[in-house]
Amino acid sequence: MKGGKFRAVLLFGAPGVGKGTQGRTLGQLPGLFHLSTGEIFRSLDPDSSEAREVAGYTSRGELVPDELTIRIVRNAFDREIAAGRFHPDEEVLLLDGIPRNVRQAELFDETVEVLCILYLAGSDREAMVRRLKQRALQEGRTDDADEAVIRHRFEVYRRDTEPMLRYYPDNLIAHIDALPTPLEVLRDIADHLIPALKRQTAAKTE
Ligand code: AMP
Repeated sequence: MKGGKFRAVLLFGAPGVGKGTQGRTLGQLPGLFHLSTGEIFRSLDPDSSEAREVAGYTSRGELVPDELTIRIVRNAFDREIAAGRFHPDEEVLLLDGIPRNVRQAELFDETVEVLCILYLAGSDREAMVRRLKQRALQEGRTDDADEAVIRHRFEVYRRDTEPMLRYYPDNLIAHIDALPTPLEVLRDIADHLIPALKRQTAAKTE
């Protein structure tokens, strides 16, 4: 932690671009703690009123309202710390799926210091739609089982999420081609992530 804020690296990119695969892989490494908002939402107790409210948005491919999202995510941080899984003094958060619009980025400023944004850019939209449909079958994700909902998720990404990048200074954003194999993408991520993490370690010891 620095100045009472969690240090974080953001995984950014369109639905189906591979953020989850990279996040889960990198989250295995000491020093990095992976959290995905989509996964946090899917793991809520399905009988709770919060889960029902969230499902009303996720099932349509809409963003969950900002205040509710931030509250649930902050609770998840607290729960992971209390359970001894996340150690904010030693670990950097690897955030997947948040912030997802400018308002969330503003709200997050109080809680999180962004060290680097890994922007996975993939141009083949139809390949990503196919990938999401395939994953929906494998993982039982109801939102991505419906192609109209998938296409709406892309529209929300273009309208609300992409403009969020402009909120952050250019020098924090690492552009990574998401089209090669996952291992090649991982190598490109490492090339950007290593210096970003070294910079913050150096700043901490100054
Ligand atoms: P994902 O697993 O990241 O694709 O997210 C699945 C769904 O969860 C999205 O389509 C949204 O409905 C919701 N969601 C995930 N992250 C956020 C967020 N930061 N803000 C609002 N809604 C979100």
